[in-house]
Order: sequence, then structure tokens, then C-alpha cells
Amino acid sequence: MIVNGTTRTASLPSHAHPRPESPERGASQGILRRPRGDPEPSIMAPAPPITFPFSAIVGQDEMRRALMIAAVDPSVGGVLVFGDRGTGKSTAIRGLAALLPPMKAVIGCPYSCDPAKPAGECPHCSGRAEGRRSHLAPVPVVDLPLGATEDRVVGALDLERALTRGEKAFEPGLLARANRGFLYIDEVNLLDDHLVDLLLDVAASGINTVEREGLSIRHPAKFVLVGSGNPEEGELRPQLLDRFGLAVEVTTPTDLPTRIDVVRRRDAYERDPAGFCAAYAKADRALQKRLTAARARLPTLDMPDATLEAAARLCLALGTDGLRGELTLMRTARALAAYEGADTVGIDHLRQVAPSALRHRLRRNPLDESGSTARVARAVTEVLGS
Ligand SMILES: [Zn+2]
Repeated sequence: MIVNGTTRTASLPSHAHPRPESPERGASQGILRRPRGDPEPSIMAPAPPITFPFSAIVGQDEMRRALMIAAVDPSVGGVLVFGDRGTGKSTAIRGLAALLPPMKAVIGCPYSCDPAKPAGECPHCSGRAEGRRSHLAPVPVVDLPLGATEDRVVGALDLERALTRGEKAFEPGLLARANRGFLYIDEVNLLDDHLVDLLLDVAASGINTVEREGLSIRHPAKFVLVGSGNPEEGELRPQLLDRFGLAVEVTTPTDLPTRIDVVRRRDAYERDPAGFCAAYAKADRALQKRLTAARARLPTLDMPDATLEAAARLCLALGTDGLRGELTLMRTARALAAYEGADTVGIDHLRQVAPSALRHRLRRNPLDESGSTARVARAVTEVLGS
């Protein structure tokens, strides 16, 4: 099965994503770093891309669609991926980030601000509206390791500067690096609840606020939170569950042709990453075009009353708490309609996204032991028709 999103090299651990300010960074996501000690090449030849192409992923349709929807409209909230190990979760996120167009970012800004937008909450850029030079940077994918401390996640007092120069400076954390990209947490169900809570707060507001050690900092932190986990290894509290926009289930494929295809592609990729990526470059470019078009189309899409009403009836029938379910269902259906190039958001869009938008918001029903996916499917048929 697909195990890693990137081929491992001696110089680049698979978690080490190039930092925006790194001079070693390539022009696009997943470029190999020159091994330390190698002589500086006189002309920088383009290094081979090493990320497994998104378009080469076999199966896992629901997960791929959820990630694309979150890329079209990050306001749908994070994506929670439940499932077996080695089902290509990390590969899919890296692949998706790699095919997104590189973003214009302010040089030297630790939050990778968009130079076209007002500096707003950025402590680095506000006050220097002029002369914000920019460069093209890959869309970041930041891994949040399980053992990460809160300091490392939200940022902390820069101790070195405090001790050597007596200055109170802020050292940005992982949330700063994830701004405008993806924050990925493998085994999110094993992370401290308070940290998950904090991450969901920041993901929802798009702002990280740090108030301690005499620091008072607010900085932009807009990212798509992607958590993965195996429910058998620890459950997420229901209060946290329903704060993720979408929840998808992935399983190891059980049909023979799919399994063979997965293994064959993985093998081909590992034997010749550059050749493999070149073979899928056209398909990845087509996906990129579609995503870019969907983002442009999104604000123009109207939501007919009939669709809104159907969404509300579906949530009522399922007894989802609060209005978050409806809001997510509506946004997700709209993002899918944009992705499909539709003129309006229809019942069929609702039907397609209902399981991912609602399955993690159901209350336990002691009289109904069927799984949440089956319950959503049944309600969709009853309320929306088949
Ligand atoms: Zn900035």
C-alpha cells in the first residue's frame, strides 16, 4: 500500500518540509534539497519532483474529494480521516498541496502573507505596507508530531534573544508555518484534547493568539486542518469530532484489481520518481486548472432555497446538534458544485457530500446500532430520494 508521500533521501526526512525562508527551497513543493557538503552547482538544474502525484492515487475517492473540497473552500473546516494505516492519507495531502499553484508570499514574513492583501493581523508586515517584496512559495504542508509541545505549536518567547539581547521577541511556531496551507496531524485521536481544541479554535478563526510570558501576539493562521486516526486506538471526544468540517473513512482496498494497481504504481514511483511524476504531470495540471477555476467560481454560485431547505430537512431527520451540520453541508455542496463547474447548487450535490459532512455529527441512538454512514445514507434516501 502507499506508505509515504515522498521518497526518503538521506538529506530530506519525509517530515522536513522546506521552510518558506529556506534558501535551499525549490520552486515547487517537494523539490529535493542538495545534500549537505555537495559542491554548489554553477547553474541550478531543476531537481526532480519527489511527491507522489495526486492524480496517480488509486481509489480512496471520498478522501480525495474531501481534500479537494477543502482546498476549494477552506471555510468548510478541517478534514478528519479515519482508517487503516498505510492507506495513503499523508500521500494524498502532500500530493494535493504539490499540485496547487505556488502562492505569492512576502519575503521574510514568517507567516507567508499574501502581498496582494492588506497586512491585517500580521505582526511582521503591518506597518510596512510599502516594500513588501514577494516570491513564489509552495503551499505549505506542516506535520504536527504527536509529542509537540504547545510552545512549538503556537510559538513562544524567543529564549535566545531574550537571554542574549534582553529582547522580548516571538518565535513563531508550527501554526505560523501552516498559514495558507495544510496542517496535518497523524493519529489526532492520540493528541491531548486541549491541543486539539486549540487547533480547532485557530483553524476556525484563522488567527493565533499568544498571551503569555509577557508576550501578546496575534498572527494569521489560516490553514486546512487534516487529522487522521484509527478509531480503534482511541476515540475523539464528540465535542471535538463535530468541529471538523468533514469526516471520511478510508479502508485498504479489498478488490484484487485495485490492490494490484496500487502496488504497481507505488513500485513504479519508487523505482523512478521523476519518470513516474512526469507521466502524471499532465493529469495533475488538469486538476490544478479545475481547482483554480472552482475557487474563482465559488463566490458566484447561488444557493437555491430548495437546496437549503433540503439540507435543513436532512439534518432534522438525522437529529444533528446545532446548525453546524447544515452550514457545513451547504458549504461543502457549494464547493463541490464549483468544482464540477455547475451553475447552481443542487440536491444531487447535497446527496454526494452528505456522508462526509454529517456522519460524525450523529448522536448515538440506542435503538439503532447501524453505523453512522449507513444512517446518513438511509436519511438521504428518505429525505432527498434516491
Ligand atoms: Zn506577514
